[in-house]
Amino acid sequence: MSSQDEETPFDAYREQVDRPMTRLFVTYGRGRLGWFSLGMVANFIARIATLVPPLLLGVAIDAIFVGGEDFSVPLVPDAWLPTAEIAQFEFTVVAIAVAFLTTALFTWVYGISANLFAHGVMHAVRVDCFEKMQNLDMAFFDDKQTGEVMAVLNNDTQNLERFLDDALMNSMRLLVMVAGIAGVLFYLNWQLAFVTLFAVPAMFLFTLWFMRTVEPRYVRQRSAVANLNTRLENSISGVDLTKATASERFEIGRVRKASRRLFDDTMAVLKLSYLYRPGMELLAGLAFAATFLIGGLWLVNDTAPGPLTGTLTVGDFVVFLFLTQRIVDPLAEVSNIVDQYENAKASSERVFGLMDISTGVEDPENPKPFDGIEGHVEFDGISFSYNSKLTDGEDETVLHGMSFDADPGEMVALVGPTGAGKSTALKLLLRLYDVDTGAVRIDGTDIRDVRLSDLRSSIGYVGQDTFLFDGTIADNIRYGTFDASEKEVREAARIAQAHEFITELPDGYETRVGERGVKLSGGQRQRIAIARTVLADPPVLILDEATSAVDTETELAIQRSIDAITEDRTTLAIAHRLSTIRDAEEILVLEAGEIVERGDHETLLDRDGRYASLWNVQAGSIDFERRAELLEGDD
Ligand code: ADP
Repeated sequence: MSSQDEETPFDAYREQVDRPMTRLFVTYGRGRLGWFSLGMVANFIARIATLVPPLLLGVAIDAIFVGGEDFSVPLVPDAWLPTAEIAQFEFTVVAIAVAFLTTALFTWVYGISANLFAHGVMHAVRVDCFEKMQNLDMAFFDDKQTGEVMAVLNNDTQNLERFLDDALMNSMRLLVMVAGIAGVLFYLNWQLAFVTLFAVPAMFLFTLWFMRTVEPRYVRQRSAVANLNTRLENSISGVDLTKATASERFEIGRVRKASRRLFDDTMAVLKLSYLYRPGMELLAGLAFAATFLIGGLWLVNDTAPGPLTGTLTVGDFVVFLFLTQRIVDPLAEVSNIVDQYENAKASSERVFGLMDISTGVEDPENPKPFDGIEGHVEFDGISFSYNSKLTDGEDETVLHGMSFDADPGEMVALVGPTGAGKSTALKLLLRLYDVDTGAVRIDGTDIRDVRLSDLRSSIGYVGQDTFLFDGTIADNIRYGTFDASEKEVREAARIAQAHEFITELPDGYETRVGERGVKLSGGQRQRIAIARTVLADPPVLILDEATSAVDTETELAIQRSIDAITEDRTTLAIAHRLSTIRDAEEILVLEAGEIVERGDHETLLDRDGRYASLWNVQAGSIDFERRAELLEGDD
């Protein structure tokens, strides 16, 4: 399956973006107009200054070296110019030096200000996109848009930067150079200028042809890049399976094929690209040759060739030959400029497409106060389906009219087969999604009426797989309660039964974990999550029990730490090992989104229904009584 060929749900938003480039300039350019203008002006001055030395050279040749002509410079009043030949020579030398200095200085000014502008926009776009992403609801991430968001944050901001910096400034250079050179040539000798400048339209046409031809090849190449990336990502993620099934050769074959496709498509682009530049130079060369031929004949015969009239000086001839060669570089940028513009346009569509996605779950307009809550949790006849707002999506109802109550400090456990809707129910409590009908309330307040941050900071979550951020153990325990003291962190770890293993690590609480740090086992990670929850001390707790197999000792440590945190908190628990929820005040047996049985452990066993049979299956493999004894004996 090649993901780049199909419409992602994201595209729908992208297509609704109106005039993305205008919006880019209005939204992000306006505050940086100063740098932008300075860059433009500096670029203009730097480019104009490059025309001065050849022009002065021509004047000097005619007035000093060959002699006979007046020492006169365009745009400069003759009264300002020296009359003595040696002074004219000195003036020329100084003026040429000043021109070079001006170019150097203003190129520097332009470089700095253009980049301050471009990178400033890039920085702002990046931060805004990330902020937007942080505030999007979970439905967005369910549709696996994270790759897409990463692409916006990395590639698209870069495309914008490249356009705002390179392309914008190059188009400025193009205008200045072509107009400036044409102006100078026409001023010096309009007839010869026609001979020289016939190449400019030819170059434009050639560029147009090149762009048209190369575009479909670019499209194929980009798709080959995406294809290879998907292939590599997939193959690397699946390396376990590949090894276990001895399918390395198969994987290598697939990657080779994708890589070969990219090679072929890239070569198809390059073959054309490398035709373009020499082609442009050839056209410029023809213009040069024609200028040299006509101008040369003009000078040698001392009379205008063919239909031409008037005179040509040696100095003007030299200026023509110099400037003809200057016209290639800016013109050769045309295809890049257009390409970068197209890329930037697509990128800003993606950026604003992301920005325009509705946040979904949002704070209410007038949030009710929500502190000092006791933790009475109530699910009142709620129904829910994951009908994603991004896609048309199938509306399959996942939970059907579910009701239950948990009094402060009580534990309600959800059990049932995979896919029954247990995790979904708990996500609704965190308001990662909003219910379709019914209401979830805490202490009688509908959770849609309080601030999301208030709601979520009053709920602790200990999940199956605990993510650790890159950083120290202490940082990870402190995550969410950032102002906790070292002492509080240690105390929390002690309660979570994590202190002991942490102190045995090389740097104790300062040991680096996460991507670039030491690897912790699932049980250790979970105890860190528990310590995090102890520290946050929320009145309500969500417990999604680990299914991973751990040795009995670790399991007991985890159980003890869980007992410590559930004691005086309202706890909603998803349990796989039924032994852990024996003491729950209420057990809900969920099947296909409906509560099929409810009651405490004893009641449910007596009923001899779904729960009892689940219990009997598990009791066969685990000696619960022995386990309970071990737990008690340790206290
Ligand atoms: P459990 O936790 O009991 O295993 P879940 O709550 O994870 O069950 O899933 C309940 C149902 O909802 C399943 O049919 C599952 O496929 C579906 N489901 C879960 N998460 C999503 C999601 N993010 N988007 C769409 N459907 C989902």
